[in-house]
Amino acid sequence: MGLIHILDENISNIIAAGEVVENYASLIKELYENSLDAKAKNILIEISDKLNYIKITDDGTGMQKDDIYLSVERHATSKISKKDDIFNLSSFGFRGEALASIAAVSKMNISSKTNDMKIGHMVTIYGGNIIADKSVAMKTGTVIEIRNLFYNTPARKKFLNKESTEIMNIKDIVLKLALSAVEVSTNLVIDGKSVIKTSGRGIDNTVYEVFGKGIFKNLKKFKYGYLGNSEIFRASKNYIFTYVNNRYTKSNLIERAVIDAYYMKLMKHKYPFAIIFYDINPSEVDVNVHPSKKIVKFSDEKIVYGQIKKEIEDFFRLDDRKDYTNETI
Ligand code: ADP
Ligand code: MG
Repeated sequence: MGLIHILDENISNIIAAGEVVENYASLIKELYENSLDAKAKNILIEISDKLNYIKITDDGTGMQKDDIYLSVERHATSKISKKDDIFNLSSFGFRGEALASIAAVSKMNISSKTNDMKIGHMVTIYGGNIIADKSVAMKTGTVIEIRNLFYNTPARKKFLNKESTEIMNIKDIVLKLALSAVEVSTNLVIDGKSVIKTSGRGIDNTVYEVFGKGIFKNLKKFKYGYLGNSEIFRASKNYIFTYVNNRYTKSNLIERAVIDAYYMKLMKHKYPFAIIFYDINPSEVDVNVHPSKKIVKFSDEKIVYGQIKKEIEDFFRLDDRKDYTNETI
């Protein structure tokens, strides 16, 4: 007999979990995007017990009983069904891996109720194995609770940063996610205290709510988002927020277009504060490059770069007043 065998599903889920959930921030991103895909209008993220308890409550469409069980199976998704769908995505998720991966490395409860159900249903999964289920009274939507992330993969747990760093990264990702969903009210509560809260009342309000007045008054709106003035130049590129089709992404190309357009205004080692929302036909962009979907690849980089750079340059040409403030809110 040969030496090769197919890994059992539980082991392969644990391995896959390393790619999808690296840390708390990536876990929260996956769950938040699931809530968005379920058309939630309110998303509450609660964290306590030194990150050992994470709860996400949404008021989206919820899942039927059978779907709750399926949702933690690998490659189980309601979002795509045929090959062409991959190249024409309208949802955040599509890989069907997040819940399976998170379930494999934590103690998880999934509770959900659709409008058609009288009562909700909760499934409890430890390390990928369903250990209990029962009916629960709840509103339409989904509640996901995660305890003791990586409890069964101690080597991976060691790679987590110290609590304060993980919390900083969580706040950072929630801020970015909230900006991608400006019609949704997002509330991040850590140890009972709300640290990020948006109203879901559109882009201007959301930008104001997450960054505060000090930043907002130094931003001006242009075709693809907001451009900061010299008052809020930064020492790193981390304040160029880039969204493609409302998905937060790390796009070196867009970053470069912004920096190049600002070139004449920037002092050495300074970078602009900018928020870029770039929309493109889904068939012209590939988000499947990395399992975390953080990186996108455009089919025509030159066009994207050129459009963004030109719009910023045109904006500066019209708006050549040296300093400007935003007084609309
Ligand atoms: P993907 O998002 O790639 O489809 P996931 O593992 O994240 O994969 O989720 C699996 C499936 O579970 C989703 O396709 C969706 O049908 C369902 N699901 C997950 N989270 C929610 C939620 N918050 N509300 C409703 N359905 C959900
Ligand atoms: Mg998902």
